[in-house]
Amino acid sequence: MRPAPVSGPRIRGIKRIDLAYVELASSEDARNINRDIALEIIRSRQPVSRADLARISGLQPSTISAIVEQLISEKWVKEGAVARRPKGRRPTLLSLNDELVILTADVRPNQAIVALLDLNGRFLAREAVPLVFDPERSIAKIIFCMNSMLADQPDRSCEGIGISLPGRVDPESQRLILAPNLKWSNYDIKGSIERKMHLHVELANAANACLISELWSGKLDGIRNAVLITVSEGIGAGILANGQIVTGRSGLAGEFGHSPIDPAGPLCGCGQRGCWEVFASSKAALRYYAEICPKGHAAGIQDLLRMAEEGDAAAIEALSRQASCLGRGLRLVTAALAPEVILIAGDITTSWARLGPIIQAEVENLMLAGPAPRLAVASDGELSRLRGAAAIVLQRHSGYHLPKSAARSRPRRAISVI
Ligand SMILES: [Zn+2]
Repeated sequence: MRPAPVSGPRIRGIKRIDLAYVELASSEDARNINRDIALEIIRSRQPVSRADLARISGLQPSTISAIVEQLISEKWVKEGAVARRPKGRRPTLLSLNDELVILTADVRPNQAIVALLDLNGRFLAREAVPLVFDPERSIAKIIFCMNSMLADQPDRSCEGIGISLPGRVDPESQRLILAPNLKWSNYDIKGSIERKMHLHVELANAANACLISELWSGKLDGIRNAVLITVSEGIGAGILANGQIVTGRSGLAGEFGHSPIDPAGPLCGCGQRGCWEVFASSKAALRYYAEICPKGHAAGIQDLLRMAEEGDAAAIEALSRQASCLGRGLRLVTAALAPEVILIAGDITTSWARLGPIIQAEVENLMLAGPAPRLAVASDGELSRLRGAAAIVLQRHSGYHLPKSAARSRPRRAISVI
């Protein structure tokens, strides 16, 4: 018998494959990977010439030419200015086609922010829409706002609609199946908007939308494990584990906010008592303030944050208690997922200089082993939900949590983060 080589080229081993989910690799897959790489280079380096695209990607110029023709015909890319060169041919530069726009809405319990963005993530319009209890009337108000935004941009073509929601969305059915702070369960948000707008609609959990916005902006480049925590009326989490966004069965992964902390605690919107979010959300900070200062008045979390900045001792104490509970609860996250980075989004970040160190100290005190994750503020504040919802329309889930059957049923390949 010949001995196995101990050096030289590595020999590929055996891998157990679950044949229930197997998909054969095709030459189309290889073409699509190269296409996605070329589009990402155009997105991040625009304007760029075909020659530079070939040099940066390492692909043959003829391959790049074919890909660029495809991207122009799909309307993702347009030819623009001619590059200045001292001699020789002057190449035409390529950039994303910003005549394509995306409608988005960030839906919260009392209001929605509706916005129109171009392919480069620039906001062309943004407007707050007050919502009512009835989902049908609320959606009608959002659609009215979206139609007026499109009417103001008659020369642009809309690619689709992305909706960020304070709840969990089943990736298969695209139904909102858990939203304790928004009583819209069982209402077909996607279907009702698609029927009236005649545009493709994608729904996304707000924390996942924020996380995807961070990924698109490149701020998490090189990071494979991160958790983004949204702190508002409730607490949500978007999870990036080993480079993939985790949605879990029926899209329900990430509900750390409903982990029980104290069975005798206040009633939560989910019907249980003492969940993490009833101690660490914005609503909790307002409750603490009412307990500390029964005669005081804070109209909302922004009011409480302003009072703290002005030196109100009760407001500072209430927000510090919220930050402390937030930090302690993050042990659930560090113990379960061991992220490199924890990003915090929401109102609490406007007072980060005061509250960030309290959260960081709690996280460091409660590590099981190893260094504590880096704690940072998610960028953009409320805009990140809108940018993330737009990105979900663009990538059509092809980047992170694509059910492949869903992707195949759609005619055009989309932009994805690679
Ligand atoms: Zn709960």
